[in-house]
Amino acid sequence: MKGRRVSELHRFLFDGAPVRGALVRLTDDWQALLQRRQAAGGYPAPVTALLGEMAAAAVLLHSNIKFAGALVLQIVGDGPVKVAVAEVQPDLAFRATATVVGEVAADAPLADMVNVLGQGRCAITLDPRERTPGMQPYQGIVPLVDARGQRLGRLSEMLEHYMRQSEQLDTCIVLAADERVAAGLLIQRMPTAGAGNLAGRAGVEGEVPGADEDFNRIALLAASLRRDELLTLDADTVLHRLFWQEQLLRLVPQGQPLQPHFACTCSRERVASMLQGLGVAEVESILAERGEIDVACDFCGQHYRFDPVDAARLFLDQTQQPPGSERLQ
Ligand SMILES: [Zn+2]
Repeated sequence: MKGRRVSELHRFLFDGAPVRGALVRLTDDWQALLQRRQAAGGYPAPVTALLGEMAAAAVLLHSNIKFAGALVLQIVGDGPVKVAVAEVQPDLAFRATATVVGEVAADAPLADMVNVLGQGRCAITLDPRERTPGMQPYQGIVPLVDARGQRLGRLSEMLEHYMRQSEQLDTCIVLAADERVAAGLLIQRMPTAGAGNLAGRAGVEGEVPGADEDFNRIALLAASLRRDELLTLDADTVLHRLFWQEQLLRLVPQGQPLQPHFACTCSRERVASMLQGLGVAEVESILAERGEIDVACDFCGQHYRFDPVDAARLFLDQTQQPPGSERLQ
């Protein structure tokens, strides 16, 4: 038995400790995502692992917040991987893509892919589903170096660093991915103000992050999880092995449980809106050169074709329908 094949997300609390956690395993859906990319040549193995870890991490991060919009985890690299993106919707639909512009060695560590000169960046964007005019998405950005300027070697380190710097949240993350499974475990100290103080701790302003014994003990257990265990063991076995001495409270979702799944949010309307944004002159010059416009979605490989008649219609309709209006659905 190598675990169930359906992608799963488990959330839990530790009774008496202000610590919460989540475990995700993406399986068939992760393989489906990679298959879509095969037509374009697929990814080198280290890029597959990076994207899988990013997809798992993005699901974990979205599951931890109540947010009606997309969470976008993005790495802008200074090496052969120019950009890597994983995006998760509130229903846990995920998609991911990477732009590889140079040679990636079969055993390339993360820093050699995205942080060669120490100029790589990691950004987390929360993009609300319904934007009111003038509203900007929330975005936090951190460099991929630690406080002493050392390049960070793992995505999990980058995210822990991000959470401390940007959110002042103590976090422990273990991630692993290959071409079959993308999985992750997240342990986080709950913000101390409010209901999280199960052991009667007061939400003290200025409390030193990391000073919490419970969190440190549980994070140490989580960090002992090996990557091969995370890839091959089912969720129940992982949680039991790590936390059998802890009072684990599994959060059972009300109603239909949300399941992580691969889905793309691209559409012909969005591509049309993008073309309208380019402007009539640019679109006409592409048509003059190629005869038609063919836009392929980076995330899922879907092609959207516009012949000269379709293209002309884009700019006729524009007077009745402002570009971008379909975003508000
Ligand atoms: Zn797509």
